[in-house]
Amino acid sequence: MNSTEQSLLHANSEKSAVEKEPEAFRKALAIILKERSFSYPSFDIYKGVTGLLDYGPSGRLVELNVLSLWRKYFVNEEDMLEVGCTALTPEIVFNASGHVKKFTDLMVKDVINGKNHRADHLVKGYCERLKKDVTISAEKAAELDNLLSVVENLSAEELGAKIQEYGITAPDTNNPLSHPPRPFNLMFQTSIGSSGSTNGYLRPETAQGIFVNFNEYYKDSGEKLPFAVAQVGRVFRNEISPRQGPIRAREFLLAEIEHFVDPENKSHPKFPDVESLEFLMFPREEQEKSGQSAKKLCLGEAVAKGTVNSETLGYFIGRVYLFLVCLGIDKERLRFRQHKANEMAHYAADCWDAEIECSYGWIECVGIADRSAYDLLAHSRISKVALKAEAKLAEPIQVEELVITPVMREMGLAFKGDQKNVVEALQALNEEEAMKMKGTLESKGEVEFEVCTLGKKVTINKDMVSILKKRTLVSTRVFTPSVVEPSFGIGRIMYCMYEHCISTRPSKAGDQQLNVFRFPPLVAPIKCTVFPLVQNQQFEEATKLISKQLKSDGIKHKIDVSGKSIGKKYARADELGVPFAITVDSETSVTIRERDSRDQVRVSLKEAASVVTSMAEGKKTWQDVCARLNG
Ligand code: AMP
Repeated sequence: MNSTEQSLLHANSEKSAVEKEPEAFRKALAIILKERSFSYPSFDIYKGVTGLLDYGPSGRLVELNVLSLWRKYFVNEEDMLEVGCTALTPEIVFNASGHVKKFTDLMVKDVINGKNHRADHLVKGYCERLKKDVTISAEKAAELDNLLSVVENLSAEELGAKIQEYGITAPDTNNPLSHPPRPFNLMFQTSIGSSGSTNGYLRPETAQGIFVNFNEYYKDSGEKLPFAVAQVGRVFRNEISPRQGPIRAREFLLAEIEHFVDPENKSHPKFPDVESLEFLMFPREEQEKSGQSAKKLCLGEAVAKGTVNSETLGYFIGRVYLFLVCLGIDKERLRFRQHKANEMAHYAADCWDAEIECSYGWIECVGIADRSAYDLLAHSRISKVALKAEAKLAEPIQVEELVITPVMREMGLAFKGDQKNVVEALQALNEEEAMKMKGTLESKGEVEFEVCTLGKKVTINKDMVSILKKRTLVSTRVFTPSVVEPSFGIGRIMYCMYEHCISTRPSKAGDQQLNVFRFPPLVAPIKCTVFPLVQNQQFEEATKLISKQLKSDGIKHKIDVSGKSIGKKYARADELGVPFAITVDSETSVTIRERDSRDQVRVSLKEAASVVTSMAEGKKTWQDVCARLNG
């Protein structure tokens, strides 16, 4: 990085300056991220592909640290089941979930060069540019604000009309745009198998793999609600024009949790642990009033007033807040924004995004949604496999129950190895479907029946199944669980963390600005550097001993035996965000230096590794260590 870029980073790491010159800041940061092996464009020697990003050794270590903290905060804390489903998915799954029809963005084409653009982004960009013009009237500003708040949810006709009304043209060329905008499905399509007969997609989210296996996980969790299933995996979205580098990728890591809960009881036993938290929240009514911004609210009060629709949703909002702050995200640039009514999927009961402010503006990094029973019902309907849970009733009650009883002997004779699938499909019929089948069996004696799990139709005759409605006394309630889903975009979180953690400070001589990544020790890719002050056999032995102990503790560290001055070695380590440096300057004791304060303590050689390990693992802070050794 040259000195101009370095000073740009310096000028820009102040929040107000980032707002003034965001592009210069991003450029300077991208250079450090590349130079220090955090991330760079994929396939760069072939000029790369937009929206694809590789992590180098430092970036991968940060990613592993973020995931390990995520597991600690969510999977371990809540005794979740962590699973791994495939990315390659047959079309039927995304037909059922609605992705084939609805996972689309609206697109317009530059009519001269054929380049595609996301229609809502063009309108958004136009409004944002015009808003900066101080000469526009108050009414015009209000109109633009209004449009900005709904732009992502406008229909093709509405967006097309706005593009024409404002005379918006293609961004780089000023060429006219195609009209009206057309939906473009963001899923990467493929075919599975050598004959190519099964259509498939690369998953755009990990959740569907969990929903389709619901019955397995319900069994694994002792058939009790609530329980949660977590999954970390790569997902793929063919973004139309991914200009925002690391923020809008075409392949990225998603960490998702599906928390299954009884729709009649969305309380959470651990809600008291988070209810006193206060942080920036932006409820939908506030967004609807013009000129409002997020305010600090108490989470407990937001749930008590019904602003957040349940304790379970509130609990996850609180845990996500604690997790992001622990990663080094600045609390003042983190807000929880509720989806407005027109923004939410029709089936969602409530939805909040954890948004982090960075040089690209406020970016959604975690979506926390109450998806009600939508997904399980959708897969049940198409697969004809019941995806349900049971709860004991306080008192037995009389109900009119649909009883579908397959006659196993007849079914076995007719369907042999397919019998189990046919029986499951029959038992998953809803009341309307079952009564229709009963009518046809009574009038015609047989009926054609589609068994999705077999991918074919079978013929059922009247001797194979009995369908009746009878009044019975039941002591259990059978229902489709609701799902609360926190969904974490790991790449976006990491990028925002880089922006929030980078800073500059003058060198000791005051002649240079030095970059420092102020990562919390848990996140830092390398936890410690070890420098022998001079190269002699005794110091080499001492360095080897420390390194051996750090390795056995699983602490990533580097040994620097270069001939550089100690000041230069510290500067290199600070730029990588290494929180601790051990200088071996005696045979019996060493100094440990902390990156942010630049303070040092002296410890015995024997103790050095364990002191660093305790801080790297978050069990002790630098202040604890100083108090013990200096106090
Ligand atoms: P969604 O399913 O669209 O709500 O996305 C879930 C999470 O994935 C978001 O909160 C983002 O953090 C992340 N995300 C969505 N789209 C992208 C993208 N194109 N690149 C990187 N992360 C993304």
